Amino acid sequence: MSVPGAVHSKLPAVGTTIFTVMSQLAAEVGAINLGQGFPDFSVPTFLMDALTRAMNEGRNQYAPMPGIPALRQAIAAKTASCYGTRPDPETEITVTSGASEAIFSVILSVVRADDEVIVLDPCYDLYEPAIALAGGLCRHVRLCERDFSIDWTRLRAAVTSRTRLIIVNSPNNPTGAIWSAEDVAQLTALTRETEILVLSDEVYEHIVYDGQWHESVLRNAELAQRSFVVSSFGKTYHCTGWRVGYCIAPTALTTELRKVHQYNTFSSFTPAQWAFANMLQAHPEHYRELSGFYQPKRDRFAAQLARTRFVPLPVPGGYFQVVDYSKVSALPDVEFARWLCTEHGVAVIPLSPFYGKAVEEQRLVRLCFAKDQSTLDAAIARLEGV
Ligand code: GLN
Repeated sequence: MSVPGAVHSKLPAVGTTIFTVMSQLAAEVGAINLGQGFPDFSVPTFLMDALTRAMNEGRNQYAPMPGIPALRQAIAAKTASCYGTRPDPETEITVTSGASEAIFSVILSVVRADDEVIVLDPCYDLYEPAIALAGGLCRHVRLCERDFSIDWTRLRAAVTSRTRLIIVNSPNNPTGAIWSAEDVAQLTALTRETEILVLSDEVYEHIVYDGQWHESVLRNAELAQRSFVVSSFGKTYHCTGWRVGYCIAPTALTTELRKVHQYNTFSSFTPAQWAFANMLQAHPEHYRELSGFYQPKRDRFAAQLARTRFVPLPVPGGYFQVVDYSKVSALPDVEFARWLCTEHGVAVIPLSPFYGKAVEEQRLVRLCFAKDQSTLDAAIARLEGV
């Protein structure tokens, strides 16, 4: 007889995500939440109006499974203008319920039992459970310490005849590290004449600083032939709760992805698809100016942190600031994050949950600076007292 307590978990090592844990703790103790990555400022007015309009116009039923044509066309145009290649909206673009759904569906569509999937630590916490549910084996390769660049010798050494997929992420969550053209060239050479596929998580594609540009896999025609490139409107338009993302991949790969997507979520929130289609068309400057919008926040926050005992690491992209807290505490990072939240009222994200095996001696946490200046000022005032 089966009893609920005896469920044989498919994900025995998985608990609640660190993002949810820290957000809950922040709410409980009334802390300023710089943990889970979400902006606390408003969505562009045009986009909100477009969403309301779409609902009032009656666009409230199922969208087509791959996404509404107007949005896929707008994504194709944006991709052409950003990366010089225009994916076919009919066969190469799929709108998903957030980038998370895209990543999950990609992994389930291509990873078979005992296939190996390489991830680069620290990496986003969704990859490994999805690989495990597909029956695959997750092989963790560590990025270099401090600058989180790729050790290509180490990565090459992790490739075997069973490697099915390599997952990359630039700008990286949690570190903000970005890929160089050389990295893209290395991955292209590494996968040439193999069956290996690539999943490139590029949700922070429009947030790259200091005049650098985003090295999308889509810029490289050869690599793009074996790649699923995932992005998200939540990060670009300050609306992580709307849950709309997309995946660009060659037709054969998109066909497989859609087989899973259609039974996973089937289609994504229709009114938001109309709103994003309108927004992309009417205001392309929004994503073009996003790096310029965030860079002063990054700079000011780093300057403010200099008044504390937290040491900020460089942030080439994304909206997270990693800091070294070793001058403050010797606690391991998860314990430290709990302590900081309960004792000093600032929620942050420890880095160890982003690793297959935590780096014992590392004392790093991630702070989200996608916040109004008043929120950041209040957080700094608390951190100054630590
Ligand atoms: N992407 C968000 C972050 O890195 C977390 C989203 C979530 O809570 N699943 O903070």
